[in-house]
Amino acid sequence: MDYNKKSVEDIDVRGKKVLVRCDFNVPLKDGVITDENRIVGALPTIEYLIKNHAKVILCSHLGRPKGEFNMKYSLAPVAKRLSEKLNKEVVLAADVIGEDAQAKAAALKEGDVMLLENVRFHAEEEKNDPEFSKKLASLAEIYVNDAFGTAHRAHSSTAGVADYLPAVCGYLIQKEISIMGKALADPVRPFVAILGGAKVSDKIGVINNLIDKVDMLIIGGGMAYTFFRAMGSTTGTSICEEDKLDLARNLIEKAHEKGVAFILPVDNIIGREYKEDTTFMRIYSDSIPDGWMGLDIGEKTQELFSKSLIGAGTIVWNGPMGVSEWENFAGGTRTVAKAVAESGAVSIIGGGDSAAAVEKLGFADKMTHISTGGGASLEFLEGKELPGIACLLDK
Ligand code: AMP
Repeated sequence: MDYNKKSVEDIDVRGKKVLVRCDFNVPLKDGVITDENRIVGALPTIEYLIKNHAKVILCSHLGRPKGEFNMKYSLAPVAKRLSEKLNKEVVLAADVIGEDAQAKAAALKEGDVMLLENVRFHAEEEKNDPEFSKKLASLAEIYVNDAFGTAHRAHSSTAGVADYLPAVCGYLIQKEISIMGKALADPVRPFVAILGGAKVSDKIGVINNLIDKVDMLIIGGGMAYTFFRAMGSTTGTSICEEDKLDLARNLIEKAHEKGVAFILPVDNIIGREYKEDTTFMRIYSDSIPDGWMGLDIGEKTQELFSKSLIGAGTIVWNGPMGVSEWENFAGGTRTVAKAVAESGAVSIIGGGDSAAAVEKLGFADKMTHISTGGGASLEFLEGKELPGIACLLDK
């Protein structure tokens, strides 16, 4: 997908009401925001709009309120935290497209910021209902999409509104598409992809797309066991997709045909049960005995993967190398994170679990780019068109 989209800087926002779709789907505990990364991530676009005299109307979803007004999913905590971050009041509307939102939007002065209530209080949002999109659009004169995390969804606030307003991207989406787009279209070589996580089936599209582009494919995590089995090794009780063995064999063959180095683990940390405190040991082989399951890559593999990353030009990483949520099985993910961070390559971390692992392990600031969208970054790497980006004006 070759995206060259207009951004907030390519459109005159002065004095205009600008509807900005943000990703304020923050984790909450008892009404308190426990991780404000998404709010911080949205600030550059909002601050640009304030500085350039726009009238800013923010919107987002939060959780799954199932198309009904449910104050458990109110964006009130976000409005409060945003006000603190921006050092100016962010007015929260009582509704999304109703009288209160309309009145508050009409009363905005240049540089003012308001936030609409949770767009998913309306079932029409996720249906991308044209009437709802039109109403939402009628609040503003320009649409800015800055929610990469929902850009793979064609909803009213992520794509539908663009039928009624000039639409551009904010800085978050701009960064995502420029860095990931360049890696796919014109990577600094050698280009290495590291794929892990639970299942092959979740990553087939990514492997298929990347296999045509990369010089090396490194496979770890639960998905490695399907490849082991496909090659005739035993995998004990490891997570393994029996119905994907042919596919795994085809992918290995395809890699050979294309001259792509295909690297699998050579040793494993195996456990008795899928439990945090299960008995575990290291085996120096890719064959796993009966009654044991692979839960992380072993030391020899950590060394092999780390060495393979030396000299890489671009690295794309999606999916942990083991059950990294559990300390006993986080070693592989930690070592790979360190090797990626120290490689000097353009390093791109897919969202979701790998991003969380890199952050938790303290390597976040050493990476070139950590995607803000799990599903969206996967679809991007699959080469799919993302509706929330495709709907924006071309440069
Ligand atoms: P994904 O969302 O596909 O990137 O998968 C992430 C999940 O894969 C994490 O929750 C990990 O705990 C899990 N995972 C990684 N390696 C293994 C493994 N060897 N066995 C079971 N689950 C794994």
